[in-house]
Amino acid sequence: MTKPTDLEIARLAVPLPITEIGKKIGLSAQQLYHYGPHIAKIQGTFPDQSLGGKTQPQGHLILVTAMNPTPAGEGKTTVTVGLGDALSKIGKKTCITLREPSLGPVFGMKGGAAGGGYSQVIPMEDLNLHFTGDIHAVATAHNLLSALIDNRLYRRMEPRLHIKKVYWKRVMDMNDRSLRSMVCGLGAGGGTPRETGFDIAVASEVMAILCLAEGPEDLTRRLANIIVGMDESGNLVRARDFQAQGAMASLLHRALLPNLVQTLEHTPVIVHGGPFANIAHGTNSMAAIKTALSRADYVVTEAGFGADLGAEKFLDIVSRKGGIWPSAGVIVGTLRAVKMHGGVAKADLAKANSQAIRRGSANLLAHAENLTQVYGLPVVIALNRFPSDSREELDLLAQIIREAGYPVQEADVWARGGGGGTGLAEQVVQVCKKQSPRYLYDLETPVEEKISAIARRIYGAGRVDLSDSARKTIEICKSEGLDTLPVCMAKTQYSLSADPNLLGRPRGFDLPVREIRISAGAGFLVALTGDIMTMPGLPKHPAAEGIMLDGENRIHGLF
Ligand code: ADP
Ligand code: MG
Repeated sequence: MTKPTDLEIARLAVPLPITEIGKKIGLSAQQLYHYGPHIAKIQGTFPDQSLGGKTQPQGHLILVTAMNPTPAGEGKTTVTVGLGDALSKIGKKTCITLREPSLGPVFGMKGGAAGGGYSQVIPMEDLNLHFTGDIHAVATAHNLLSALIDNRLYRRMEPRLHIKKVYWKRVMDMNDRSLRSMVCGLGAGGGTPRETGFDIAVASEVMAILCLAEGPEDLTRRLANIIVGMDESGNLVRARDFQAQGAMASLLHRALLPNLVQTLEHTPVIVHGGPFANIAHGTNSMAAIKTALSRADYVVTEAGFGADLGAEKFLDIVSRKGGIWPSAGVIVGTLRAVKMHGGVAKADLAKANSQAIRRGSANLLAHAENLTQVYGLPVVIALNRFPSDSREELDLLAQIIREAGYPVQEADVWARGGGGGTGLAEQVVQVCKKQSPRYLYDLETPVEEKISAIARRIYGAGRVDLSDSARKTIEICKSEGLDTLPVCMAKTQYSLSADPNLLGRPRGFDLPVREIRISAGAGFLVALTGDIMTMPGLPKHPAAEGIMLDGENRIHGLF
């Protein structure tokens, strides 16, 4: 018998009514705004006591992160979900928080983002396709501002934007490299031709704002602060100069509310907001995390990609803004990824290679070292077990990790659900410890030094190579009083460096920063390194080619 696919497993599940799931974390039926029987938005989140600062979030926050990903796949979401189910299984009141899947990866290379095997979030099709429309709302709010900008240009009205200095582009939730650079405003009556382009919606500053907003007023204030470009005298122009914030916020009024769903084993999951971790800050919304922390004893959240990206930004940006701090970090590694970081090609992963395991484990250990030594977090390394993994090799890897001084547990949650993660859950509970935040850098530190701290201490770089354009933007930040914002790095996920081919644990490399963008609404500076793109492209054979709808209106081929 062939193994069931993720979608087949998900479809066989019998979900509980969403009101039952809400009850598990103390949500009454009145607090749920239904999108069918199994999805609901949580109403009354704002102002919620947990967000209003009256009562501090009580639960333990567990940050799931990983080694640098490889094409062999790591399974962070799978382990996040499996760990959540395992915590429920050992009797802990648990809630998982995750990002909303973007259609870019779903139809591109990576596939869906609802976990895998027997550790999944359901309903899988809805979650991966459109869900409650939050990403559409983000894109629409973003593009409304674009339209308002071009309307003023067309009508030659104030503010007189410098046509070469309009930074605000358009967005859509699709991988489409052909839209990266374009000329708009062509044709009779089409306005003022100018160069612009599209980013993927999840890279939009509006997405970051949605994820960091503490309520509707904070949302509106942040939207108003968005810098869209410069006028002809070199002054910054903001969204409020177009009176855009009210309408943008209104488009987001439902999107602002977190979405409640469940795992295959009925653990509550709040799925809300979806910034990528390589080009944005990479974690679900603050509203989701705080709602969960005030209602569950253990909250498991996933920070995107490797700990160098998702976890660094979660700790230095998100946690600092929200006044929260994890009680533990879980670093997901796989034997396959370790071997690839040790120099093995994907086609040769089945062959035993202890040398490669020793070499490649350096990548996994680099992240453990960062979380413990830089941030003071207790960590557990979770080895996500794949069916093809050899027992001897898994044992060798676990031994290397133990010898380096870190607790390690196998997670067999893809094959067995929560039952395959109880050892991990118990170990995590054991290390969880509430403690004060310890950030990598102070906000008062000069921007160059903040970037350098991330590059040298987290990535292992020797020096940072700032382009002239990046330096100019830093000068603008200083003169505008924006230099105390934290830095959100945009970097490839595949390497600790900015070069996706530099695997393992490279050291002493140069980190090129080609551009800095000011996200004054979100409240951070984005430093773009290497060739990182804010609009991804599709691979030669996109996942879209294998997805279909049958005669009974059922979807196939999602994974
Ligand atoms: P990430 O969150 O790191 O991107 P996911 O959890 O989404 O990774 O997993 C990516 C893919 O790998 C999914 O299709 C999932 O089913 C598969 N996968 C994850 N863990 C395992 C495992 N232990 N064995 C087999 N396949 C797995
Ligand atoms: Mg994931």
